[in-house]
Amino acid sequence: MSSNRKLLISALRSLNRRNSLSIPPPSLEFQPKTQIPCDFPDSSSHSSEETRVSRAFHCVYDRSLGSRTSSRGFCSESTERSVERCWNCSAAAESTPFLSCGACRSVQSVDRSVDYFQIFGLEKTYDIQTENLESKYKDWQKKLHPDLVHSKSEKEKAYAAEQSARVIDAYRTLRKPLLRAMYLMQLEGEPVDEEQTVSDPELLAEIMEVREAVEEAYDSQALKQIQMQVQRKLENWSNSFGTALKKREFESAATSIQRMTYYERVLEEIVKKL
Ligand SMILES: [Zn+2]
Repeated sequence: MSSNRKLLISALRSLNRRNSLSIPPPSLEFQPKTQIPCDFPDSSSHSSEETRVSRAFHCVYDRSLGSRTSSRGFCSESTERSVERCWNCSAAAESTPFLSCGACRSVQSVDRSVDYFQIFGLEKTYDIQTENLESKYKDWQKKLHPDLVHSKSEKEKAYAAEQSARVIDAYRTLRKPLLRAMYLMQLEGEPVDEEQTVSDPELLAEIMEVREAVEEAYDSQALKQIQMQVQRKLENWSNSFGTALKKREFESAATSIQRMTYYERVLEEIVKKL
């Protein structure tokens, strides 16, 4: 019995000793450390990736987020996306958007992911500075106009026709506040139907009132006075749209567009009568 107990005690002691040895304090401390972002396998893979200059920034940036799985995907994606080359001379795109090659002047194919604001190097907001639009538009047409590629391949002629038409469209859209507002809503995935029937009784009453005033105005002075009033209302609703869009209140933004559409039409009628 006593020998059995001795055996049991020694077995338990050795078990305890083995346990205390197999889970040593350094190992316990080590465990959580390996779970901190960039453990051994990852940091080694990162350091090899970081030798590639183009990846370095994204890897360093992403490591700070502490996401190991996403950092790998992000790093490999960023290198694939950055490669954009000229179809004709293979020169790398020197700027964004890449509509025309700086090296061989070939017109590039249309990239639909580039929006109108990017074409003009503008931030995607409603309150843009429209003063420089025309000069930038002329600059693009000097590079993209179909007449400039009349001796080139059919492929490039087609590219030039499409790019040039798109730049014209972009210019006309961004220049006019109402069209710009509608385009922004489209980009937000909230397209506005400008032909939607007006159901707001307040607005309907106002439409009647202004139409009557325009019809009854007998001289240009009276018309110009109405024009000024309508212009002011248009500006107020334009400001309301800008505020609503910033707050991402799309319903209110759509209401503003409907009002702007109406005032634009009244202004057109006044100009015809003047
Ligand atoms: Zn080129």
